[in-house]
Amino acid sequence: MINVLSVDVEEYYHGREFEAAVPEAQRPSLPSRVEASVDRVLELLTQRDVRATFFVVGRLAADHPGMVQRIVAQGHELACHGHEHELVFRQSPQEFRDDVTRAKALLEDLSGEPVVGYRAPNFSIGAEQDWAYDILLENGFLYDSSSYPILHDRYGTPGDPRFPYEVRRSGESRLLEFPVGTARFAGINFPIGGGGYFRLLPFEWTRRGIMRVNGRERQPVMFYFHPWELDPDQPRPPMPWHHRMRHFVNLERMESKLHQLLQCIRFAPARHVLDTVTP
Ligand SMILES: [Zn+2]
Repeated sequence: MINVLSVDVEEYYHGREFEAAVPEAQRPSLPSRVEASVDRVLELLTQRDVRATFFVVGRLAADHPGMVQRIVAQGHELACHGHEHELVFRQSPQEFRDDVTRAKALLEDLSGEPVVGYRAPNFSIGAEQDWAYDILLENGFLYDSSSYPILHDRYGTPGDPRFPYEVRRSGESRLLEFPVGTARFAGINFPIGGGGYFRLLPFEWTRRGIMRVNGRERQPVMFYFHPWELDPDQPRPPMPWHHRMRHFVNLERMESKLHQLLQCIRFAPARHVLDTVTP
């Protein structure tokens, strides 16, 4: 069973806790660290000979075209993480359409390849943003990965399907949803698909969870992380302790944990894995 490795390419200050700690007007004056941290990720993936899907923020692609070209040149899939990293529920349908079409066109220009995957910043497509799927389908996206079916204070949709499914169809074209990975015990979905949970929880939690889904349910797992999670030297502005915990916990151990994960679990880009499953 092959799982999906995905990387949400954004700056450390795009993290929600950082957004709360540093006013929007001050964020552009923070030092950019995305290119160096993406290079660390690329180096790690080369060492392990693994290809991934990179959901890239359009604005960062415009500012760092060489970074995007290195991602593509190394055989990874390029996908879209919005242009401004604005939460979907803060946008009108027209604002969302403008944001994703702008980012998609830019990423396609830079890579010379079609961009067919989308992930909403902070998984921000909820039940009331259902229109977003129509817009993605209209604009040539083939899959979305914005659902994390767990209980979470900010983004969980625990009642949603856990495995790839068709979320929209129009004539011959369809949009698939590939939710972030969960393992189900005693009727509850537990997070095994990455993010802060991967840094916080013991490594075995994720490894066993993925093996269980692959083995018992015969389904692939969508796993994600951010390049800034491999960057313990990023600025640390004052923030409430629980925000500090979420953003900074175990950053210094992330890289070795990822090495460990790539050693024992098979991964590929989302496009490749979606070709092998029939929702
Ligand atoms: Zn993001």
